[in-house]
Amino acid sequence: MSEATEATEAAQATPEPTPEAAPHVTDHGGGVWGVKVPIPDNPLGHTLVHVLDTDRGPVLIDTGWDDPASWDALAAGLGVIGLAVADVHGVVITHHHPDHHGLSGQVREASGAWIAMHAADTEVVVRTRSAEPGVWFDYMSGKLTAAGAPEEHVAPLRAARASGRLRTLPGLRAAVPDREIVPGELLPLAGRRLRAIWTPGHTPGHVCLHLEEEHPARLPGNGRLFSGDHLLPGISPHIGLYEAPEDTRVTDPLGDYLDSLERIGRLEPAEVLPAHQHAFTDAPARVRELLEHHEERLTGLWRLLAEPLTPWELAERMEWNRPWERIPYGSRNIAVSEAEAHLRRLVKQGRAEAVPGTEPVAYRAL
Ligand SMILES: [Zn+2]
Ligand SMILES: [Zn+2]
Repeated sequence: MSEATEATEAAQATPEPTPEAAPHVTDHGGGVWGVKVPIPDNPLGHTLVHVLDTDRGPVLIDTGWDDPASWDALAAGLGVIGLAVADVHGVVITHHHPDHHGLSGQVREASGAWIAMHAADTEVVVRTRSAEPGVWFDYMSGKLTAAGAPEEHVAPLRAARASGRLRTLPGLRAAVPDREIVPGELLPLAGRRLRAIWTPGHTPGHVCLHLEEEHPARLPGNGRLFSGDHLLPGISPHIGLYEAPEDTRVTDPLGDYLDSLERIGRLEPAEVLPAHQHAFTDAPARVRELLEHHEERLTGLWRLLAEPLTPWELAERMEWNRPWERIPYGSRNIAVSEAEAHLRRLVKQGRAEAVPGTEPVAYRAL
């Protein structure tokens, strides 16, 4: 938050503000800037919203969390570059999560900009907006019970549902995109070559955006890649199930993610501009690290399945960033979803199977 305040002050104090004057804006050269937009109460700290100059006006890649302080930081960052929110011509969203798509509606209102997203994530936005919150609570309690969650974990969900005190979920008011990002195609941006690369895994419709132009500092490699949450320098993104009540498709998000990673590695971009942390080079090395990390993790889980375990029991035994007892309630749900995504992969690989006749279903190694 203090960064936002500093930036606002810097923007007001200097008649012709330069990016150097405000540490929350980075000039990446060649008509590309990064603006740090804070995520309130989140250890990730901020979303890097990228600004791409086009012949028709600036285009944003992601917008940031829907919060007044985040909005101020975005507006101040654009001010540092010499732009106003009203100038924004279009918004390209890497995926539907609220730290990326949260402010899109407000940007569209202020500027008339179009909003583009991959169809699979637009489907999630539309579904979330139209769902009655109760449907979500019923789905979550049913899913957790089926995953082997103990009664004391599921009971608060049922109690909240029964009392009608249903917390508003982020994303409930998210803007419905008005353009579709088509995988493999160039986005219609005047004077720029920005190609959409579909990278499902973190969400079903996650895209990376490949700027097929020479690197402004002539770094070796193929252009620059806006990688969203797909490829981050120091974090392995959360891969859970594609949570979708009423969807009966058996998806394999971790398999999708690993395939998408290899695809990005083969692009060999000169530089990666991710949506969190910081820009980095040598994408193939980072891809290898992540592939090895997931392979090790899958093998570790396969060993744990020497005894049959439900997804909940597996989550309790997996390695997290803190002991299971200290993982907060909501994060446990995310952890179970991650355990299930790993189980799906092991089953697909023929390394595990559901034990017939178990309820909740337990899995064992093969
Ligand atoms: Zn995300
Ligand atoms: Zn994110």
